[in-house]
Amino acid sequence: MLECCIGARRMRQIQRALRHGKVTLLCLFITVLVLRGTIGAGKFGTPEQDFNEIRSHLSFSKRSQPHRVLVEAKPDSEKLQSLLIDNEPEEIPDPNKPYSLGPKISDWDSQRAQWLEENPSFPNFITPNKPRVLLVTGSAPKACENPVGDHYLLKSIKNKIDYCRLHGIEIFYNMALLDAEMAGFWAKLPLIRKLLLTHPEVEFLWWMDSDAMFTDMAFEVPWERYKDHNLVMHGWNEMVYDQKNWIGLNTGSFLLRNGQWALDLLDAWAPMGPKGKIRMDAGKLLTRTLRGRPEFEADDQSAMVYLLITQREKWGDKVYLESAYYLHGYWGILVDRYEEMIENYHPGLGDHRWPLVTHFVGCKPCGKFGDYSVEKCLKQMDRAFNFGDNQILQMYGFMHKSLSSRAVRRIRNDTSDPLEVKDELGLLHPEFKSVKVSF
Ligand code: UDP
Ligand code: MN
Repeated sequence: MLECCIGARRMRQIQRALRHGKVTLLCLFITVLVLRGTIGAGKFGTPEQDFNEIRSHLSFSKRSQPHRVLVEAKPDSEKLQSLLIDNEPEEIPDPNKPYSLGPKISDWDSQRAQWLEENPSFPNFITPNKPRVLLVTGSAPKACENPVGDHYLLKSIKNKIDYCRLHGIEIFYNMALLDAEMAGFWAKLPLIRKLLLTHPEVEFLWWMDSDAMFTDMAFEVPWERYKDHNLVMHGWNEMVYDQKNWIGLNTGSFLLRNGQWALDLLDAWAPMGPKGKIRMDAGKLLTRTLRGRPEFEADDQSAMVYLLITQREKWGDKVYLESAYYLHGYWGILVDRYEEMIENYHPGLGDHRWPLVTHFVGCKPCGKFGDYSVEKCLKQMDRAFNFGDNQILQMYGFMHKSLSSRAVRRIRNDTSDPLEVKDELGLLHPEFKSVKVSF
């Protein structure tokens, strides 16, 4: 009947529209069900309330998402900020108080000798030629300004742990600023004094900068050579005493014998350290006096050169400036030669053929401003780390795919006779680590 009034074609259109309408209604119903499930049925009351809830959910869902992220991220980023940024007020030193590292001690040798006698189970020598050594290193209390810097500090301490484990050396890592006046490169002085006095059993303290890495895991320090000396630094007599060159020695890696001499040396070394005017004025004096020194505040290395050239009679005979191997090795002249070293030499030499230490002087991987580009420094630090790490990994049958690769590859297959594997560098059970057992 309708068909005859509106025509067959129109009728089919209406039927199609009704079918579509049914599908649309079904879709709407399913949407409501899903939304109820998503938003939570408990909040729904009347159908009107349902509708309002759904509408508000739909209309705000897009905008509410970033808002939620902001609300959640804000406290997180604030928390992170407070972890990274040092908000603590700086301690202001009293300018009228003369600086001192601590109470005067003048009989340390006899105090220490008595302690060693009373504590024979903590001898200062492990064997007649092997002193008890404590390697001391550290970094600033706060996180690095350059976020990857902390990763490099981790690599650097891992590298030192490896060397020290192999050579029977203990490690102390310091992150506390023990003396507010001696911030930065001067922080090692109060720390060293504290450790010498607290560990009379330690014969040699080995200071090593956080930006220095062991690149020869097999080299053992020739301790016997220093039996008549109290301070060993990499350097050259002529460059220090004749040329007064500020890089005639390096204080990034040195050995200091525990004793009264060391305490006196620290007292004589410290006066240029207190930050502020003292350090700034001393910097000017050092730049005036020392060859090649740029204009900047007093640093511990220049102060050591200055002390040696001005009071050579007092200290010189107990200071050994070592250049036969790299107790400190300047990275600039070493890092491009690692491949050549691998080609021609082997670990255990410690010198230009296979340097004991590669020190990234001036790199400041933790800070924002160094003397060199950060990328160049980090790339070369990776190479130095991997060069040293290969000597560790080879004991376990691995090595880095290349000096610039974190990835490792197998260098031999595992066997069912693991103890038959040859320890080529003799690092697994080195002679210098062996203990004589007596019952
Ligand atoms: N250092 C520290 N606490 C600080 C700052 C520096 O213990 O707050 C140590 C750290 O081990 C660092 C060393 O002092 O490596 C000397 O500084 P740096 O290596 O930057 O000087 P460079 O060798 O470049 O002259
Ligand atoms: Mn350094």
